[in-house]
Amino acid sequence: MMGQMMNQPLLVSSIIEYAARHFGGSEIVSRRVEGDMHRYTYRDLHQRARRMANVLKGLGVQMGDRVATLAWNGYRHMELYYAVSGSGAVLHTVNPRLHPEQIAYIANHAEDQYLFFDLTFLPLIEAVAAHCKTVKAFVLMADRERMPTETKIANLLCYEDLMASSSDDYSWPQFDENSAASLCYTSGTTGNPKGALYSHRSTVLHAYGSAMPNALNVSSADTVLPVVPMFHVNAWGLPYSVLLSGAKMVYPGAALDGKSLYELFEAEGVTFSAGVPTVWLGLINHALQNDLKFSTFRRTVIGGSACPPAMMNTLIDKLDVQVIHAWGMTEMSPLGTTGTLQGKHKLLPQEEQRKILQKQGHAVFGVDMKIVDDEGKELAWDGSTYGHLLVKGPWIISSYFKNEGGDVLQDGWFPTGDVATIDADGYMQITDRSKDVIKSGGEWIGTIDLENIAMAHPAVLQAACIGVAHPKWDERPLLLVVRRPGQDVSREELLGFFEGKIAKFWMPDDVAFVDALPMGATGKIQKNKLREQFREHKLP
Ligand code: ADP
Repeated sequence: MMGQMMNQPLLVSSIIEYAARHFGGSEIVSRRVEGDMHRYTYRDLHQRARRMANVLKGLGVQMGDRVATLAWNGYRHMELYYAVSGSGAVLHTVNPRLHPEQIAYIANHAEDQYLFFDLTFLPLIEAVAAHCKTVKAFVLMADRERMPTETKIANLLCYEDLMASSSDDYSWPQFDENSAASLCYTSGTTGNPKGALYSHRSTVLHAYGSAMPNALNVSSADTVLPVVPMFHVNAWGLPYSVLLSGAKMVYPGAALDGKSLYELFEAEGVTFSAGVPTVWLGLINHALQNDLKFSTFRRTVIGGSACPPAMMNTLIDKLDVQVIHAWGMTEMSPLGTTGTLQGKHKLLPQEEQRKILQKQGHAVFGVDMKIVDDEGKELAWDGSTYGHLLVKGPWIISSYFKNEGGDVLQDGWFPTGDVATIDADGYMQITDRSKDVIKSGGEWIGTIDLENIAMAHPAVLQAACIGVAHPKWDERPLLLVVRRPGQDVSREELLGFFEGKIAKFWMPDDVAFVDALPMGATGKIQKNKLREQFREHKLP
């Protein structure tokens, strides 16, 4: 017997329709790349998104066509999120921090028809435009005044001109919820980037799932500032989950330094934010150095790479900001797990609670996970047995765009490339990425633990641990450290700091001090570059 409920497809346009109708007055505030602040409401967003959908129609964009963006977090980018996907085309968000050659590669691979970009990226577009073979026109997301008088770009259009010449008389089309909505490429640390093609259904389900209290817990009482960029995994889905929650949205544009962020948090009464650990470094340092407190900011999600316990403790104890550690991947839309306490944990001593919060967290409904050994046999959830982490669920890829890499699933599960433990309560902890784990005399050494300890030293700003070839043990850990400005610490002192905190064979063999660590396009330390750079390093 079939159920008798309405069969309404889960479409991205349903989010904006709901948001504008039921939270029409909720605000969206953006720091524009032009330098000023822009404010309008969900209702205005809906109106302009419909205008932009008409623009796309006029430009001949068809269902399934890819439309690219190269833009910061801001209201125009959000208009495109809804106009492109809502009209049935595919929003391809491009990471401007990628190498220009990679940008041209993915624009060609995606066969982008149009490319919308922020003013900041004009020089970048001038450099790559001629190599983007399928792009019919480039659209500068600005008004007429900002258009360059001379440019090498053959077909350059003005966003606000297009908007002004178009009507908002537009009805969102209804189509199969499994149609593609957006496309995001992985950073491709090895080989060419591969595309994760999200569907309307997966996007809407992920928005529901990620907004839940055990996950990001977004509500209409919040003011949300996503530091995590809209050009990578759809800003962790916040442009969707915030809208369906009715919260006020604050977009930081290109100003991501600690001072600019702090001022925006305070000026707009931000209650909740999300970003990778590296962005929090800047904000925390600014707040501590200037003895500042947050008046409204109380919760943040940190993920993308492991949140060092020292960072979590500083945010909670010194700045009164609750930290939700999250884990996910581009291939997972991205949310997989979030770390929040259960009722029974409330009575535990603070130190025990922190240990739970420091794990990457509990699976969100919509994600299942397991750990397996090299033969694929499922391993115990005892909090200490580690194995390859596999996931499945309706917002996890089944194959890459254009089937790059072939069949990626193992018996219906997606192998994440991470090594993890899962405890009896279902909390997962990442030991390492399988390609970063150090294999020493047949044993594995997880680099995240070593980095977390180093980061807890007051003189350490950043730390990365890599394996270096060793004649007897195959590989041994080398710790690379960036010291805090004006602080000093010697190799011996730092190694002494590890004493008693780890098993003896985990002890780094050496420490090298560096001025900076190489960062990738998504704010992660590029360990492959470090391994290359320190390949010949002589361990003592
Ligand atoms: P890319 O590295 O291509 O940008 P993603 O941004 O999708 O890809 O990164 C996914 C990977 O990032 C995960 O497989 C995991 O290794 C790492 N990661 C994400 N969140 C965390 C976290 N909270 N702790 C540790 N590692 C994390």
